[in-house]
Amino acid sequence: MRTFELTRPTAIGDALEHHGARDAFIGGGTNLIDLVKLGVMRPEQVVDINGLGLDDIETLDDGRVRIGARVSNADLARDDRIMRDYPVLSQALLSGASTSLRNMATTAGNVMQRTRCPYFRDTAMPCNKRSPGSGCSALTGINRNHAVLGGSEACIAVHPSDMCVAMAAIGGTVVLEGRKGQREVPFADFHLLPERHPEKEHDLHDDEMITHVILDAPQAGAASNYLKLRDRASYEFALASCAAILTLDGDTVSSVRLALGGVATKPWRALDAEAALVGMEATTDSFEHAAVLAFQGAVPQSGNAFKVTLGQQAIVRSLRDAARALKAQGDRS
Ligand code: SF4
Repeated sequence: MRTFELTRPTAIGDALEHHGARDAFIGGGTNLIDLVKLGVMRPEQVVDINGLGLDDIETLDDGRVRIGARVSNADLARDDRIMRDYPVLSQALLSGASTSLRNMATTAGNVMQRTRCPYFRDTAMPCNKRSPGSGCSALTGINRNHAVLGGSEACIAVHPSDMCVAMAAIGGTVVLEGRKGQREVPFADFHLLPERHPEKEHDLHDDEMITHVILDAPQAGAASNYLKLRDRASYEFALASCAAILTLDGDTVSSVRLALGGVATKPWRALDAEAALVGMEATTDSFEHAAVLAFQGAVPQSGNAFKVTLGQQAIVRSLRDAARALKAQGDRS
């Protein structure tokens, strides 16, 4: 039996005081407990954040929305403001896991969610992310579910979150509290590429914790869509997903935000595709051209070349659905 000390602070300062490099925070525990049982994570101390509040969703004066670290995935998905102003986030959350898991899983826990790479979860196998320097079993092993974007010679594990893909498209910041004070990290920079150190996954210091995620103000006149393609219709991780947020001026794309999941080592903004679309007519041809650009740097492995096509199709369908919604709105008004 693996033992650890459990502390239940009621103030953020106490939580930070208790937390060290070999410790873990726990909110819902939907990911951490799994990994502790498997022996993948072996915290000496677990700091329970459930006495800290951090469970509100607030609209700020500048129109942004601040989400507490402990807000559950279920409460976030069903919040009236989220459903009205950020439907792509609600869709992404509801496409993930199961009802009972969404009831337990928290916003901060989802941001910190760890990869489902089977070699990461099997302590008998080499894995640079779990055991730095041991090698990457996926590069020469079964890699059907692995990344084609953002990988390195050290790691090709996919980031598993749906929520984070929607947040990457929306834009925002991750608010951190540490012993030296508070800082905010742009959402796009919080998750790190594996490069030579896949064990370092986030721009987060050992003495810091996530207290909030702040979403950028919603875009007026936008339609959005989260499309998730997977092996079965529910309770499954994405093979490819796309969050699209689109505005049109007549038939012309005036702004677009695209983020991809299931194909990359972090929630992936398709910036080249976005740049190519602005000013173009919102047609399937334009969307297909952008989708090709989104994967121009892809490095498929032995078992996952299909993800390039699948990811491109996710982009085209997601954009087409968003454009149709905007045109339908225009026809009604
Ligand atoms: Fe480990 Fe990453 Fe390789 Fe998976 S892909 S075995 S997580 S190093």
